[in-house]
Amino acid sequence: MTKSSAHAIAGHNAAPDLRSWLQRLSTTDRLAVARGGVSLIDELAAISKRLELDRAVLFPSPGQHSIPVVANIFADRSWVADSLGVSTDQLLPRFQEAVRNPLPWIEVKDAVVQEVIHREVDLLKQLPIPKHNEHDSGPYITAALLIARNPETGAQNVSIHRCQVSGPDRIGVLLLPRHTHHYFRMAEQAGQALEIALVIGVHPACILASQAIAAIDEDEMEIAGALLGHPIEMVKCKTNQVRVPAHAEIVIEGRILPKVREPEGPFGEFPQYYGPRADREVIQVDAITHRKNPIFHTIVGGGMEHLVLGEIPREATLLEHLQRSFGCIRDVRLTRGGTCRYHLVVKIDKTNNGEPKNIIMCAFGGHYDVKQVVIVDMDVDIDDPNEVEWAIATRFQADRDLVVVSGAQGSKLDPSSDQGISAKMGINATKPVEAETMVFKRIHVAGEEAVDLSRVLQEDPKSAFARILTG
Ligand code: MN
Repeated sequence: MTKSSAHAIAGHNAAPDLRSWLQRLSTTDRLAVARGGVSLIDELAAISKRLELDRAVLFPSPGQHSIPVVANIFADRSWVADSLGVSTDQLLPRFQEAVRNPLPWIEVKDAVVQEVIHREVDLLKQLPIPKHNEHDSGPYITAALLIARNPETGAQNVSIHRCQVSGPDRIGVLLLPRHTHHYFRMAEQAGQALEIALVIGVHPACILASQAIAAIDEDEMEIAGALLGHPIEMVKCKTNQVRVPAHAEIVIEGRILPKVREPEGPFGEFPQYYGPRADREVIQVDAITHRKNPIFHTIVGGGMEHLVLGEIPREATLLEHLQRSFGCIRDVRLTRGGTCRYHLVVKIDKTNNGEPKNIIMCAFGGHYDVKQVVIVDMDVDIDDPNEVEWAIATRFQADRDLVVVSGAQGSKLDPSSDQGISAKMGINATKPVEAETMVFKRIHVAGEEAVDLSRVLQEDPKSAFARILTG
């Protein structure tokens, strides 16, 4: 990091932003800094992958570019909890509270993110955009919040999309069938472009909030404000009506063009496969604004940061969704093996033998990505895949406890689906409410937890063993 940007971080203590989180990572020995000159093509992503379970990594002047790049800003759920200032077990409740009580943002006139304005745009010259997985079609912007406005109501939506650099001022974008896609269809049917902004380099709370499964026209930046405990400051873009976080590092302003589709992909995605090349929507870029010394955030597609970022907000919103209808829901996990999107485990305090199947059906409706739901009892540790499998092995009978739905909406990125048409499977791995206590009583050795090994074991086992053999 240069002296001037270090000074900017030290002198900056107002709004929580990307820098305040990187500062926190640095002071807690979780931020590595690479040598200069790492290539933006493959090498930056390769180094990030090697460090992904361990440390964030900052690349000064990657590919001789003057703007540094940061990756791996989350390694696991404890980092996410830390970024929100709560303990790991308070993470989902804290997020739920923010979803329930969003905090409207406030508009400001001046913003650091507009200190430098480029109206002549050349994406690869002006920004250090990496290529990540081996067969990606080229450089991708992967960690940008896409902010769009409902063309009729002006309500803003925030989401993350993979953004392929298709030309100096052109971006190919994948819009999955949620809110941004809906706004775009409204604009396109009226023959208009959809004004958008791509926001790069924000506080983790903003990125997490963007992944909440909120209702359409619920502005995710209000959830971010609630997570941070004070309203996000937003500023109007220079070339359109979209409002963007004033403390972001970089903003790309543009429009998704009506009736235009161009090839996008392949791109390495969270299911650990490449999303295929196809004709997709196109963003025409109108301007780039940024801080004087901006930092560019990138996420390696399918890497741990990608999985964790989607996992926590989805868990919290699925928990909220299920708890609205069922009093017995205690916790949920989107498992690592299920790519933190497809497989949901639900822990319940069961009171009725019919509950699990209702919960399974409700979870299928919570998000189209959810493909498998396993319901377990209170005595199962849902952070341990072996415990969940044990519950299935000993409490589940396929002819009685299995729910299968065919031909439902699923994930287009699941290669086993038929263009996103997918089957759903629910597994009730709970014991019957009326089960006799001893039938489902987990075995346990009395006194195991209280054993003090230093008191009961001999210090020199080799000689003790030799003495026993010789009598
Ligand atoms: Mn939304």
